Amino acid sequence: TELYEKGLEKTNKGFGARLNKFFAQFRTVDEDFFDDLEELLIESDVGYETAEELTDELRDEAKLKKAKSRDELKQVIVQKLVDLYDKNGNSEDEKLIYRPDDKPNVYLFVGVNGAGKTTTIGKLAKRFKDQGKSVLLAAADTFRVGAVEQLEAWGKRVGVPVVTGKAQADPASVVYDATQRAIKEKADYLLVDTAGRLQNKKNLMNELEKIQRTIKKLLPDQPTETLLVLDGSTGQNALLQAKDFDKTTKLTGLVLTKLDGSSKGGVVLAIRNEMKLPVKLVGLGEKAGDLADFDAASYAIGLFH
Ligand code: GDP
Repeated sequence: TELYEKGLEKTNKGFGARLNKFFAQFRTVDEDFFDDLEELLIESDVGYETAEELTDELRDEAKLKKAKSRDELKQVIVQKLVDLYDKNGNSEDEKLIYRPDDKPNVYLFVGVNGAGKTTTIGKLAKRFKDQGKSVLLAAADTFRVGAVEQLEAWGKRVGVPVVTGKAQADPASVVYDATQRAIKEKADYLLVDTAGRLQNKKNLMNELEKIQRTIKKLLPDQPTETLLVLDGSTGQNALLQAKDFDKTTKLTGLVLTKLDGSSKGGVVLAIRNEMKLPVKLVGLGEKAGDLADFDAASYAIGLFH
């Protein structure tokens, strides 16, 4: 997966390069080795608890396997990274859910302004369109200036219709109209963009709840996915946001964007370990094709390239 390796270049320069340098320099596997490794993991935004857990497990495993050489230790750490990720779920739950008998499948995108919701929706609309699926977009971010136009531009580019409301329209009314239309047109997917004003958390959470209720009024089993979009380059801040949203909105998974521009790729593990939520998609650039399914093994191995 070339896109992965290319997209993660910066992460590799940061997290991966630091890991590589660390492994190139170490002489003996002693307590200092594990202390230094733990420090490196913390600096890469893996999170304190995760770093500690990973180091402890690596210490036991290295002893058990009597791993001493560089390559043996690298293998153990790659395996540990994948295990740590998989421990909180399995690779199956990383996949986006699609229920063919349950049309339209509604995907709700939430997250703070600038996280990459609109861009992710555009990219995903292209992916589904390329698969021959029918897609409808709902521009329910009526708050951020330019958000509706931005989604419309993606709709045009990809060739999928966008349902919009009047200026300052109630987001739930846009979602209602879009859901009705998606039902009528038997669309495979309805992708809903939402507002992400951070300044007024309570209003935002109420709004998201109202949107979820509105969808359920017409389609009791939807949304299929409620995805929290997080800017991966913000490191630990992304984790804090995830915890905030998780308290009030029932989430099914995460999208981590801007991993192409980040040296803080370790946050993927921190979020998975602390949130028990699967990372379903990663954003690796601004273009329509720069979206990939998350794969823990490619990710861990990619760190050492
Ligand atoms: P929203 O407010 O959550 O809808 O965020 P936008 O979709 O408008 O994205 C904010 C900015 O981040 C835009 O300039 C996007 O082009 C950019 N962006 C989104 N995803 C990615 C990504 O994966 N990589 C990079 N480099 N930029 C991204």
